[in-house]
Amino acid sequence: APRKFDAVIIGAGAAGLMTAIEAAKRGRTVVVIDHAKAPAEKIRISGGGRCNFTHLDAAQKNYISANPNFCKSALKRFTPWDFLDRVIARGIPYHHKAENQLFCDNSAMDIIDMLLDDLKSHGGELWLQSPVSDLEKTPEGFRLSVPGAVIECQNLVLATGGLSIPKMGATGFAYDVARRFGHDIVPTRAGLVPFTLGGEKLQYIEGLSGVSLNARVRIGKKSFNDGFLFTHRGLSGPSILQISSYWTPGQAVEIDLRPDINVMETLKERRRSTPRQHIANVLSEIVPKRLSDRILEAAILDGETRIADLSDKKLMAINTWLQPWSLIPDGSEGYRTAEVTVGGIDTQHISSQTFESALCPGLYVVGEALDVTGWLGGYNFQWAWSSGWAAGQAI
Ligand code: FAD
Repeated sequence: APRKFDAVIIGAGAAGLMTAIEAAKRGRTVVVIDHAKAPAEKIRISGGGRCNFTHLDAAQKNYISANPNFCKSALKRFTPWDFLDRVIARGIPYHHKAENQLFCDNSAMDIIDMLLDDLKSHGGELWLQSPVSDLEKTPEGFRLSVPGAVIECQNLVLATGGLSIPKMGATGFAYDVARRFGHDIVPTRAGLVPFTLGGEKLQYIEGLSGVSLNARVRIGKKSFNDGFLFTHRGLSGPSILQISSYWTPGQAVEIDLRPDINVMETLKERRRSTPRQHIANVLSEIVPKRLSDRILEAAILDGETRIADLSDKKLMAINTWLQPWSLIPDGSEGYRTAEVTVGGIDTQHISSQTFESALCPGLYVVGEALDVTGWLGGYNFQWAWSSGWAAGQAI
């Protein structure tokens, strides 16, 4: 005989577990189903193993979505402080990083254990290694199969996340099911991902791999001022990851490698105040030595030239590598390493209050599977908590 539940949640990640916990607290019978061997693998590896579990300032402006207002309500109803309250109540040691990002002191496992204990203590079930087949709509709700069981439920929650890191079990499952019930998918692409360079561009940065500094990167009106890193394949660091979520192939990214100063003015000032200094010494005070050497090489300048002997034109040749430097990335590292998927299930026919589908009553979508993508810094987990919490109140 089929097993019966009030709600089946597919995907034991951050959003699915939160949905299940909240629904179970309200007395619903729930089962969370996942095809993976372990639940919440992305929480486990997140934040370098310490899980950047929220950002205290998370708000609408930190999310990318075709409907920028969609995320507002859920973020207001279950806020970063609400999640933090649970972390504190559980006694999980945590710390702040720059700009109100919160991390576990010890391990992301603290967050996973909290969620799993909450689920269990409210009677929720968790079935792992359970790929879903034969999913269908019935007059009463849904019927689906997993190895060894047929399940019937009134409510079905899609919480299988996005496409990033297929090695860890990411699939387009939620998109496929949503499509079947008439939902559109906003085209997806890798987000929070390093850029790759090729040809001459890659040659230019050769030897710079590992050099990091603070930079401002910009596409159109969007800009981020944060860490910037040269890699052996291209560009990375927080500023690049952030802007990558806004990037579409072919677009130029403007990079300012010294956003805090006017390099040209600084060089001219040094030509007046320290005319005998070698340009290599002056420049290596402005940017890391390896980058300074590379710029002089590219500008065909002898590092031992005294700065007094350099014309405005020569100084300008140096400046062009620093401020603002425009380049078109050849591509990104793709879903293989992306932290998130931009795009996803169109929010158009999803309620921003309940996360229920307007096209298929009883069907819910939460978390990253939706077309809501947060910045780097704990915003994506906050979206998972907020959307999962809201759905859990409605089921
Ligand atoms: P997921 O956490 O991806 O969970 C989806 C679940 O569904 C998985 O357990 C998966 O096994 C399961 N599943 C998939 N397909 C199927 C299927 N067909 N059948 C059954 N089950 C299925 N965000 C932050 O806010 N802070 C961070 O520090 C952070 N660090 C990150 C580091 C890395 C390396 C990565 C990749 C991401 C990071 N993120 C971070 C982003 C964050 O992990 C995700 O946005 C978040 O996990 C999304 O939650 P979710 O519950 O929607 O989906």
